[in-house]
Amino acid sequence: MAVLPIHKFPDAVLRRKAKKVRKIDKSIQTLADDMLDTLKDSGGVGLAANQVGALRRVIVIQLPEEDEPRVYINPEIIRREGEREVEEGCLSVPGYKAIITRSIWVKAKGLDRTSKLVRLRADGLLAQALEHEIDHL
Ligand code: ZN
Repeated sequence: MAVLPIHKFPDAVLRRKAKKVRKIDKSIQTLADDMLDTLKDSGGVGLAANQVGALRRVIVIQLPEEDEPRVYINPEIIRREGEREVEEGCLSVPGYKAIITRSIWVKAKGLDRTSKLVRLRADGLLAQALEHEIDHL
């Protein structure tokens, strides 16, 4: 478990495409643990693996109202509906916030840490976080 440095804009790793995880092995579990430590330390809502320099399709999300953080591996948005304006920031662009357009709700799928397929429908902050973090990948 370790707090990793967060790569900041315009670091090239943020523009590179993360690779699909073929097997959720020890290295992926360690990456997820380290990302959770890093997210907690930062006080942010979400973090994508690119932001800690790992080009793997892994994201972590901590909603303020939830006790347990979420970890999604190979996450994908499979449906999005509607449009809304939200204020958004990013741990890789510290001190900057912008109003951007996000979906009203999304359907997403991905694997959890036990390789189980998870499907979810999300709105509000969770939908925003899923779109933001999956964009990073
Ligand atoms: Zn971000």
